[in-house]
Amino acid sequence: MEHNTRAAFIRQMLKDERTIEPSPEFSYKALVKSRQDYDELYRRSIDEPEAFWGQMARETLDWYRPWDAVEEYDFDSDKPFVRYFRGAELNASYNCLDRHLDGPRRNKAALIWQGEPSEEVEVYTYQRLHREVSKAANVLKGLGVKKGDRVVLYLPMIPQLAIAMLACARIGAIHCVVFSGLSAEALKDRIVDSGASVVVTANYGYRSGKILQLKGICDKALEGCPQVKSCVVVRRIEKRTVMEAERDLWWDDLMAGASPVCEPERMESNDPLFVLYTSGSTAKPKGIVHGTGGYLLYATLTMKYVFDLKETDIYWCTADVGWITGHSYLVYGPLANGATSLMFEGVPSYPKHDRFWEVVEKFGVNILYTAPTAVRAMMKEGERWVNGHDISSLRLLGSVGEPITSKAWMWYYSAIGQGRCPIADTWWQTETGGVMITSLPGAVDMKPGSAALPFFGVAPQVLRPDGTEAAPNEGGTLVVSRPWPGMMLGVYQNEAAFKDVYFPVPGRYLTGDGAYRDEDGYFWITGRIDDVINVSGHRIGTAEVESALVSYLQVAEAAVVGCPHPVKGEGIYAYVTVKEGTVINDDLRAKLVGHVRESIGPIATPDVIHFTAALPKTRSGKIMRRILRKIAAQETEDLCDVSTLSEPSVVRDLIRETKRLS
Ligand code: ATP
Ligand code: MG
Repeated sequence: MEHNTRAAFIRQMLKDERTIEPSPEFSYKALVKSRQDYDELYRRSIDEPEAFWGQMARETLDWYRPWDAVEEYDFDSDKPFVRYFRGAELNASYNCLDRHLDGPRRNKAALIWQGEPSEEVEVYTYQRLHREVSKAANVLKGLGVKKGDRVVLYLPMIPQLAIAMLACARIGAIHCVVFSGLSAEALKDRIVDSGASVVVTANYGYRSGKILQLKGICDKALEGCPQVKSCVVVRRIEKRTVMEAERDLWWDDLMAGASPVCEPERMESNDPLFVLYTSGSTAKPKGIVHGTGGYLLYATLTMKYVFDLKETDIYWCTADVGWITGHSYLVYGPLANGATSLMFEGVPSYPKHDRFWEVVEKFGVNILYTAPTAVRAMMKEGERWVNGHDISSLRLLGSVGEPITSKAWMWYYSAIGQGRCPIADTWWQTETGGVMITSLPGAVDMKPGSAALPFFGVAPQVLRPDGTEAAPNEGGTLVVSRPWPGMMLGVYQNEAAFKDVYFPVPGRYLTGDGAYRDEDGYFWITGRIDDVINVSGHRIGTAEVESALVSYLQVAEAAVVGCPHPVKGEGIYAYVTVKEGTVINDDLRAKLVGHVRESIGPIATPDVIHFTAALPKTRSGKIMRRILRKIAAQETEDLCDVSTLSEPSVVRDLIRETKRLS
């Protein structure tokens, strides 16, 4: 009931009756040229998955040894599993680098790096990147890293991050990238969970003109990680850095002495390539494990089709490599395709609001893949920031991370795409490895706000609470009824979680998102079923913020919900009750905000701290979040069903307090 009301609301917000056709010029040159071509490919991928993926795998990747079986899975049992290309052997770094060295791609730009300071630019050709990766692989070997070992990469958006990832892949080590905006505490948790013995970081980083103390944060995290033997430090900024003898080593020193020859390790297709922690809707982060063959095939193919990739394209994905989007569509997807991938260290608003357009103009970017939060922020600043730049090189736009409202979609389409570039909205998750639902550019008509149709081999369904399939336009839970090659292999060292979180109901992969499918078969994502706040495209688990708040001595209880925020998409609204005798004042409020920033990171900074005497609870003692969400959004006229509340007066007080706060 609650979900349906919300779904209807969001649906109204998103829905725009308009359907926009791709231009005939675009379709003519596109990889998939028409809806009919898409339908045929899709049908084959679903009717004959083994033949389809087998052919794609042969054509797309280089293998040392062929597979014994294409696809094996069980979604029904107590121990669900999925496996692609069993018995086959390959190496991801070989596929991203070595195989491009024989032909003209040898001297093509693989990675163009634009630092936050405008004058800092680096170009890595495939040849140069191959050399650097091989050296870095030997560096890791020299530190004792072996196949199957985990290496944590806590690095900002600098080339060494991509190099270190590919170096791990080359020797069969499992990389765990931790977003460089996360705090010491969050980093420590991930190092401990992954059991890594080597960490790679940078001495400092840049963000919006400020200097990030990455090494300092890392030192703090490592206090709680005695198993870490080596910490390799990239010298990002020439500035005094405290190094601990024995443990800390300079990247440059190690690289200077490393051989540029490193034979890639032969990996079985289902050997893990990496572990990536999701933002964590629960306090404990989940390490999502991705394999080698299936993942790489899926990232490579989706990259090629979703972005209609051409050999000469300059492609820019603005996501941080610390998130899955950066893994699949900044590093693995583009490089396996032999494309040119632009890596940008800065932010859209620094030094001025035209930074993105300055970069697009400077490099002649053809494909731009960004998030609705960035689009909203730019929309707020106005078109004048775009107008001063020649961005006519753009031919395709992409969107990922959250539903894009039709308003933001139309702005993106007209102000940035100049009515010429199709927009590929892409719905997917860390767990899915690559894009699952998208408006395949050139082939399908776009509906602003809808992620559109499933990618090849993907079988999404919208279910009612009773498990039956929802009717057209009826909101429900989004599930996937069969596997696809990019699917996660499991949760790191937590077999039970794979079943509990993703297969609570046997037979189908549970996405955790709500959706509906319209009469044309288009999917509309309505948000998530659980409680996660999306702040400027960063996912923050409410439970994580709550546990941070509660860990503060004077706090008795906390409940965190999202509230509408004009720029960030969602803001963090925290209800806090304090222990008796505590004086409530602005000082305490500031201390609490600081405490959350300290424990999780600045991205989790609460926008509102609402001190209250009590929280609305059910009789069984559960906090009623839907009410808190409504109060935070100031939608108090219609609070729906409050009959299960233990103390209705609590709600009246909360509403009164909110009016005072605003
Ligand atoms: P956690 O699983 O820890 O809660 P998370 O789900 O926020 O973290 P991601 O895997 O990065 O972490 O995000 C995937 C989610 O983002 C999807 O489940 C969906 O809710 C949302 N999302 C991504 N792309 C889109 C899109 N194009 N349209 C709508 N929602 C999207
Ligand atoms: Mg998720």
